Amino acid sequence: MVSPIRPRIGVLALQGDVREHLRVLEDLGAEAVRVRRPTELEGVRGLVLPGGESSVIDRLTRTFGLREPLRAAIAAGMPVYGTCAGMILLADRLEGAVAGQLTLGGLDVTVRRNAFGRQNESFETELAVPELGTVPVAATFIRAPEVTAAGPAVSVLAELPGGRIVAVEQGPLLATAFHPEVSGENRFHRRLLERVLSS
Ligand code: GLN
Repeated sequence: MVSPIRPRIGVLALQGDVREHLRVLEDLGAEAVRVRRPTELEGVRGLVLPGGESSVIDRLTRTFGLREPLRAAIAAGMPVYGTCAGMILLADRLEGAVAGQLTLGGLDVTVRRNAFGRQNESFETELAVPELGTVPVAATFIRAPEVTAAGPAVSVLAELPGGRIVAVEQGPLLATAFHPEVSGENRFHRRLLERVLSS
């Protein structure tokens, strides 16, 4: 029997930093599994789209027959958390796509890939995320995207000083431009689990 308090959560495992997400989810008490094929997606109640290279992940979703099942799961309201390349995959509109690159969509946002330029490709910062409490988030940005426009149904969870949007939420979809999993931050994953347990 599937335990209601130990929900099975998938991490899309085509490319990128899969292992870190599996660890955070297991630490939070979920049963964390890799998703590489449609049958594996059928067994999960929530999903993490990890960081990596969004154009590669996009191509592999099509190679592995996962693109339409993923789009169907998002359309059906499955809770999904996308980090970095995962945020790009969730965006309805993409700036800076490579030729032929598609997103899965679902989040009514425009996302710009590699938004921080060469000088600032990777950096760490403490980010205020009021929805997660008063303790700031240790956020690691690695060739990160940013949200350049967000529709009315989207809540902005975090901005950098100066107002660049780097974390958003829309119903069961959550996305961060940065990686919380590399610094042991687990509150975004916890939020995903809360969505799953209340769905
Ligand atoms: N720059 C990558 C992309 O466009 C994202 C980087 C990441 O996920 N850390 O897919």
